[in-house]
Amino acid sequence: MADRKFRVVVAGAGVSGLFMAETLKRAGLDFAVYEKAAEVGGTWRDNTFPGLFVDVLSRQYEFPFQPNYDWSRKYAPASEIWAYIKKVAHDRGLRKFIRFNEEIVRARFTDGIWHLDTAKGNRDVADVFICATGFLHKPLFPDIAGRESFAGPAFHSAHWDHGVPYDGKRWGVIGSGASGVQITEALAWAGCEVTQFIRRAQWVHIRENPHSTWKERLKLRLPFAYRREQRRLWQFINEFDRWRLEPGAARDAMEEEYRSYLDCIKDPELKRKLTPDYNLGCTRIPKSDKNYYAAVQLPNAHIVKGEIATIVPDGVVMADGTEVDLDVLVYATGFDAHAYMRPMQVTGLNGTTIDEAWREKIYSYGGIALPGFPNLFMLYGPFAPVNNVPVPLGLDQEIGCIMRLIAEARARGAAVAPTVEATEKFMARLGAAFPGTVWVGGCKNWYTGDEGVPVLWPFPQSEHKAFFEGVPAEDFRFIPTRPPD
Ligand SMILES: Cc1cc2nc3c(=O)[nH]c(=O)nc-3n(C[C@H](O)[C@H](O)[C@H](O)COP(=O)(O)OP(=O)(O)OC[C@H]3O[C@@H](n4cnc5c(N)ncnc54)[C@H](O)[C@@H]3O)c2cc1C
Repeated sequence: MADRKFRVVVAGAGVSGLFMAETLKRAGLDFAVYEKAAEVGGTWRDNTFPGLFVDVLSRQYEFPFQPNYDWSRKYAPASEIWAYIKKVAHDRGLRKFIRFNEEIVRARFTDGIWHLDTAKGNRDVADVFICATGFLHKPLFPDIAGRESFAGPAFHSAHWDHGVPYDGKRWGVIGSGASGVQITEALAWAGCEVTQFIRRAQWVHIRENPHSTWKERLKLRLPFAYRREQRRLWQFINEFDRWRLEPGAARDAMEEEYRSYLDCIKDPELKRKLTPDYNLGCTRIPKSDKNYYAAVQLPNAHIVKGEIATIVPDGVVMADGTEVDLDVLVYATGFDAHAYMRPMQVTGLNGTTIDEAWREKIYSYGGIALPGFPNLFMLYGPFAPVNNVPVPLGLDQEIGCIMRLIAEARARGAAVAPTVEATEKFMARLGAAFPGTVWVGGCKNWYTGDEGVPVLWPFPQSEHKAFFEGVPAEDFRFIPTRPPD
């Protein structure tokens, strides 16, 4: 084994997998990326529904190693984000490292290395295995009777059927989250007859999304102007989300602003239906670029609030008996946000599987590692900052730490995993931080774990950076596996 080259395998070629791949390439390590689909991009490849725009500033959704001076808008459309990701893969020469259409279905740590099996029956081994498999990747469908009976086209928002023409159809959109809001808004403005089925109102951010001017694009090409912009963004990220963390005037002002967006709704009954009954920020806030509240007041748009009792061949029947006839049904019903790398079967030390490890509750060390699973890393795993740090920035911090741990493990000829004590300490620190934050405001959201604890990072981004820069070697156990490099 000693003469085998030290090797890293990454599962997934979305934003996380590509960031990891570029970093491994620069470090000169031997690595491969397995991607179960035929193209890079993950979320941005799969979600092509109308109305999808990035919810952070386009500039915040850049890899630090590849600035983009040419975003068309303040918040870019999803197609542009996907085009940028594909360009990064091409420009950085990453495609040759990716094995497309290869899903890793099993990963087992034995004899100091990871043994990997793909769905096609291929095998590989890796000293380090990195799951860049996404946190919003496995579509969720609601458990509603009669789902299979619907006669027309029916699909999840993550698999939009572009073969279905918009015109002349009665569209039903199930779900009030970010996807449901953006789809309903887009269909309504396109003149379609659309009904959105909601169980609960959402806070919606009605925002401006201007085109970027040629002057702005040109300015960013000047190195000093670019650096100044970066500093400004950094400051903005640190300060912007503080209202989420503690009650006070900033939070009250924010809630008041959001409440004022509802003032454009003329019909008091519709306004009542769309007014949330829990605090702002408890759920991830849908962003609306074309005024969702104006869109749902168009004569062709309808909001139906309540439980759907059954889906029937020609529509849905609500619990109160109301029948709504439909030609197309869209499930904007979200994702299994706590699946992470699963259904992949991952087995660590002593034959313990990931399902067994997480049976009672989901946990991690820093969102990147788990005790008992040596040299297994996750990108944006449990308790990563899925709500308050732009994903590329969070990845930069996680990947920096993972690379340091890999270097240390290699130097020691060992596999590395966090200790149980350090992981418990990390989890206790997070647990103590949730009271007072917006995420425990009496709502059910996709972050909430089995025990009612939101599975996210409840601190500002500056603390995320500080955490990963300060990860001490004592938090880890190094298990000898091979002669030191
Ligand atoms: C509709 C929608 C809108 C979003 N909007 C925003 C936004 O505006 N701003 C924001 O910050 N975030 C947004 N997100 C979150 C988004 O998921 C992240 O920003 C980011 O794209 C995650 O990248 P990732 O590479 O970690 O995961 P993903 O993009 O999910 O990529 C994971 C990849 O792994 C592959 N894969 C999974 N399992 C395996 C396996 N076993 N073997 C091989 N390959 C595998 C998948 O095919 C996929 O390509 C959004 C998510 C959704 C669903």
